[in-house]
Amino acid sequence: MIKELHEKIISGDVTSVQLTEKHLKTIEEKDPQIEAFLTIDAQKALKDAAAVDAKIKNGEEIDLLAGIPCALKDNICVKGGRTTAASRSLDNYIAPYDATVTKRVGDADAIVLGKTNLDEFACGSSTENSAYQITKNPRDIQHVAGGSSGGSVASVASGEAVWALGTDTGGSIRQPSSFCGTVGLKPTYGRVSRYGVIAMGSSLDQVGPIATSAEDVAIVLSRISGHDEHDATSAKSSDKKYEDYLRGDVKGAKIGVPYDLLKEGIADDVKESFMNSIEKYKELGAKIEEISLPHAEYGLPVYYIIMPAELSSNLARIDSIRYGMRANDHEGRDGRDAGSVIEQYMDSRQYGFGPEVKRRLMLGTYILSAGYYDAYYKKAQKVRTLIRKDFEDVYKKVDYIFTPTTPETAFKVGEKTDDPLTMYLSDIFTVTANLSGVPAISFPINTESEGLPIGGQLMGKWFDEEGLLNAVHTFETV
Ligand code: GLN
Repeated sequence: MIKELHEKIISGDVTSVQLTEKHLKTIEEKDPQIEAFLTIDAQKALKDAAAVDAKIKNGEEIDLLAGIPCALKDNICVKGGRTTAASRSLDNYIAPYDATVTKRVGDADAIVLGKTNLDEFACGSSTENSAYQITKNPRDIQHVAGGSSGGSVASVASGEAVWALGTDTGGSIRQPSSFCGTVGLKPTYGRVSRYGVIAMGSSLDQVGPIATSAEDVAIVLSRISGHDEHDATSAKSSDKKYEDYLRGDVKGAKIGVPYDLLKEGIADDVKESFMNSIEKYKELGAKIEEISLPHAEYGLPVYYIIMPAELSSNLARIDSIRYGMRANDHEGRDGRDAGSVIEQYMDSRQYGFGPEVKRRLMLGTYILSAGYYDAYYKKAQKVRTLIRKDFEDVYKKVDYIFTPTTPETAFKVGEKTDDPLTMYLSDIFTVTANLSGVPAISFPINTESEGLPIGGQLMGKWFDEEGLLNAVHTFETV
């Protein structure tokens, strides 16, 4: 879609202003129901679009993304704009600088329509933990869009935006992509800068593209990735144009399937689509091999130790002094004075955070406390090393690992809100990619069916995004 739109824009078939107006209109029509956006800046979008049109008129060369409307998850800082992470604590936070990804999107002259909804501080799998609104699944609004990047994914799935950026700490780009039928990539840890992205779990977080095809994901990844001196964990990898690697051929590629993990707890429709897509890869000439990831079953427990530990340390800065809403400013204080500094901290955090974030902060603080650090945190880190080693071993034999993205299709709004533990299960196949750092992509595998979308997940070797994207592109187009 991006390449076609680019052709239209440079040939004068459509102007960027017209294209942007069209998308703003779609938002106006659809977003009251879908609720993907938290902030829309139509004025800025149209001004930027006019600037791209002027460049074309002057005969200047423009980037593939130039003039094309997109959306950013609201935990990505945009200078001078409201950035809330869907938390009451950051309700009035105006970012004083651009995230590196925002800057790169701007350098490509892409048109940012607005900021999208998420679970508060990216903690969740349904956007039901947003302080503001619940994003609905564009395919069926009785169902959740998934999370935490539900707003970004729904904006793309509904045609409001052409592409979007999300963040993925345990599955937050892939799980909603699977639920809404988009293609979503979590790049290798270190591939994309985290500078200016509100941190959840710093050793797990990655920013990644969401679009309607592997080609579009590749085009966006080429523009947002690469070394950044502002992020100490950013890899010194060479810049690539990922869209140039889409050969449309997977002959001889070795795809490992951990059949052991797929025995229980997977819905029949998901299993069926997954088995059919294995057949399709075989027909395309790939070799399917059974593999085992013996420590993958500990992925979720390890994730739910490491992530809350890192979250509690990252969110310590939201103390109403350094960042965030101050308790005596809000209506919940009933006119009482601020009291002591400690009282102010406690009051602000009590009011500013929602229940799921509080649950995780308590868990994380407990896990990191002197008496329990060794028993939980240190042990989880050791198991994390074993999980990573499973991947190292398997990648000596195969090129990719294939699983469903989620055990079931999108659940209904409200269905799992009272039971956080079953909600956590939606990430059973996705968390290991974050724990090991490998790249992983979710793409629709039941495109023929009328029902809710089903996603397949391919994981690749560290820094082999081009291979992953080619494997998905081949599945989509051949
Ligand atoms: N759904 C997972 C969680 O609740 C993953 C979130 C994410 O990737 N940001 O933690």
